[in-house]
Amino acid sequence: MANVLFTNARIFDGSGAQPYTGDVLVQGNRIARVSRSASAASAAGVTVIDAAGATLMPGMCEAHTHFAWNNAANFDDIQRMPPEEHTLWCAHVAKVYLDHGWTSCVGAATAKPRLDVVTRNAIESGLIKGPRYLAASQEITVAGSLGDETLPHIPYPEYSFGQVVSGPEEMRKCVRMFLKYGVDSIKLNLSGDNFVPHAPAETTWMSDEEVAMAVKEAKVRGKRVSVHARSCESVKQALRHGCEVIYHASFTDDEALDMLEAHKDRIFVAPGLSVIIKLLYEGEVIGVSNAQAKDMGYEIELEAAAKSLRAMHKRGVRVLPGGDYGFSWAPHGTNAMDLQYFVKYVGMTPMEALVSATRYGGQIMMKPNELGMIKEGYLADLLLVDGDPLSNLGVLLEKSKLLAIMKDGVFHKEPEVRGGARTTRWGLSAA
Ligand SMILES: [Zn+2]
Repeated sequence: MANVLFTNARIFDGSGAQPYTGDVLVQGNRIARVSRSASAASAAGVTVIDAAGATLMPGMCEAHTHFAWNNAANFDDIQRMPPEEHTLWCAHVAKVYLDHGWTSCVGAATAKPRLDVVTRNAIESGLIKGPRYLAASQEITVAGSLGDETLPHIPYPEYSFGQVVSGPEEMRKCVRMFLKYGVDSIKLNLSGDNFVPHAPAETTWMSDEEVAMAVKEAKVRGKRVSVHARSCESVKQALRHGCEVIYHASFTDDEALDMLEAHKDRIFVAPGLSVIIKLLYEGEVIGVSNAQAKDMGYEIELEAAAKSLRAMHKRGVRVLPGGDYGFSWAPHGTNAMDLQYFVKYVGMTPMEALVSATRYGGQIMMKPNELGMIKEGYLADLLLVDGDPLSNLGVLLEKSKLLAIMKDGVFHKEPEVRGGARTTRWGLSAA
């Protein structure tokens, strides 16, 4: 782990303040010094990177990640991938996230019981490349709801996308199994989803007794509960029971918004707008026309979600990017589209969208005082970007614009040496 000095960088520090020109010194895995002017000659043994005005920003956090989704068009094709291929797939995708500047990801559900846990462990032990990762359980659901893919004549649980439980005791058993495997969070499907016609988005499925049991068991081990909650009732249910991470939250009323605001310091919302928007406007890739997507309820849901999320954002609820990439219509790696969606549909400024991807990311990763900002003492997860994300969020979609990617003080992508001298743009040289 070398010490690295970025000089002449345009620093976006993740706080929400306007960028400034300065230097950032990384020592070990931490940011040791941030200065607003060119530093004096650096100490020996420091690798100096002349940023030449490129933007230096915190690494981004994807708040609703499914490594196990294999860019298929339906749940069956994800679920029926054999475990060996699926494990390799997750290892591949973990690197894809880091390659695209996502230095942290929050697992939102996986497709087989231990996939997320083994992927996280392999990243942490250095066996594979990937972002900081919080591992999730499978989706836990109830009969007939989103994630129950069993058929009456093929009643095998292995065929089901999610773990199907009925009643608090089955919930307890299921949650304890995932806790035993070592997950960081338990995922519950509280509402339906327009992607499954028999359980649309505005329906709510899980009983209060089941949710209460899941939360109780997770809390015993100090773990978090995240929920798939598109319906208004499911959002309220999640908040009543103390679930911290709310995915989607498309439909709300004043009571739900008041409850969200009352808990804003403790909860996170990651809407995962890509599914709705992509199916509505680009669904042809899987044979879904705009008219069909409207019939499935996606136009109504997008309108409701935009209204809900704008209200949440105004009330100070933390809305974070990421969500349900890994389907054929929105493959892994294109996740930064969410930042543009936030400007268009949620009413964020580009600055607010970037804060949601960085500072809020450190918070949802449970490292609020050491991750997600460029600040002395913080963990050195950094991106050097060729361009200005504040004037064009689209640059974050282009891998080639990410000149350097650093996680935990180590370059995942080293800046290119151009001419070898430190005077050249993005030159790398040892002092
Ligand atoms: Zn999801």
